[in-house]
Amino acid sequence: MYRLTYLIMIENTIANILIVEDEPKLADILKRGLENYNFRVVQAADGREGIAFSRSESFDLAILDVKLPFVDGFQICRDIRSRNSEMPVIMLTALDSLTDKLEGFDAGADDYMAKPFEFKELLARINVFLRRSTHKNNGSDVNSILRAKDLELNSRTKLVSRQNVNISLTAKEYALLEFFMLNPNRIISKAEIAEKIWEIDFNTGTNFIEVYVNYLRNKVDKGFEEKLIFTHRGMGYILKTN
Ligand code: CA
Repeated sequence: MYRLTYLIMIENTIANILIVEDEPKLADILKRGLENYNFRVVQAADGREGIAFSRSESFDLAILDVKLPFVDGFQICRDIRSRNSEMPVIMLTALDSLTDKLEGFDAGADDYMAKPFEFKELLARINVFLRRSTHKNNGSDVNSILRAKDLELNSRTKLVSRQNVNISLTAKEYALLEFFMLNPNRIISKAEIAEKIWEIDFNTGTNFIEVYVNYLRNKVDKGFEEKLIFTHRGMGYILKTN
């Protein structure tokens, strides 16, 4: 009965997960573990296969090892992102290194797990991502809606729209926008963003926060006369609502 609580359905179908892992033992544990919780699992043993599989059908989530034969996990992630901005991607690595983490986020990954990890921990994260994608709008909940002028974010359904047109965001872009909207008209430093959204200490040697803020701007501000997100050079960013 306990297991049933983990049965995740996406629009009445069983969630489809892609695993790209070249270590047979771990790949097998993950596949069997997830199948036990009623996920459908497709497994690739190297990077080339991973890219081919990810292009051949649609998945609800991907788990990518970083170090893989032929093509690494970062490249697979970039390839996925060039076609699909919304599918959650969790990266696995042998080292809990900040460089790998940053490169993963830079490639568009939503989350990161350092090996060895507890299967339960991975399962918990998968469930968070899949629940977020299944939360479609059922009825209104006034308290869960954040507004910045004509931009609207519903923190219950995770839907974002501007001038009533839906905007699709990746999990990290969503988290970033929600953070801006919870802190309007206040300059937010890159260090604060790094800590709150990525749970890492800010390292000035990288520009991934700029990259993400630009992704977000392209989706939220581009094409609109009135801009909402502004840069304060040397200080950070501000979402202006007045
Ligand atoms: Ca590997």
